[in-house]
Amino acid sequence: MGYLEAIEECRDRFPELRILSGLEMGEPHWHAAAIAKVLGAGRFDRVLGSLHCLPLPGGDRFAEPPGLYEHREATEVVRAYVSEVAKLVSESDVFSVLAHIDYPIRYWPQQTAGPFELSAFEEEFRFALRATAQSGRALEISTRIPLHATILRWWREEGGDAVTFGSDAHEPSAIARGFREAAQMAEAHGFRPGPNPYDLWGRLN
Ligand SMILES: [Zn+2]
Repeated sequence: MGYLEAIEECRDRFPELRILSGLEMGEPHWHAAAIAKVLGAGRFDRVLGSLHCLPLPGGDRFAEPPGLYEHREATEVVRAYVSEVAKLVSESDVFSVLAHIDYPIRYWPQQTAGPFELSAFEEEFRFALRATAQSGRALEISTRIPLHATILRWWREEGGDAVTFGSDAHEPSAIARGFREAAQMAEAHGFRPGPNPYDLWGRLN
């Protein structure tokens, strides 16, 4: 059964629930035609955009962070990833929420590269966050590996005015894991829920 059909069935079976549909689009700025085709297939209430891959040396093959770290210097992988995020938010307008800006940090190769030092990438993160804020998007607080509070602070300082929460669960039992802590962190940084549970969280001032 297709995704949209499954959503319709769930709405029929649980009419007391409000069930939103959503998509996460990977690298939408590189695949405009394919993305338009998917989005044209139906109505999607929330569309996230994200970056998962970068080119390997040589440029004709792509890899996710674990593969990238095998072939490129670790700090360079993070810099290249965050720089590409700035391009993603500038070049594509099909999504409203930027997902997991901290994606490469999940796979940081501590054994070979030592502990991850977020402050070494402050300039790159601030640049990408500013571009995301200026494009009018919300920032997802992913709880799979909890978002670093410093990135949320930078988001606010660079003009970000909304956040969403995502658990990147991949299995039902993990849906919404870590949301309590993530919500507390968002509140501590001046974000508040809207009138409805599914609204974006906006900033207080
Ligand atoms: Zn993703």
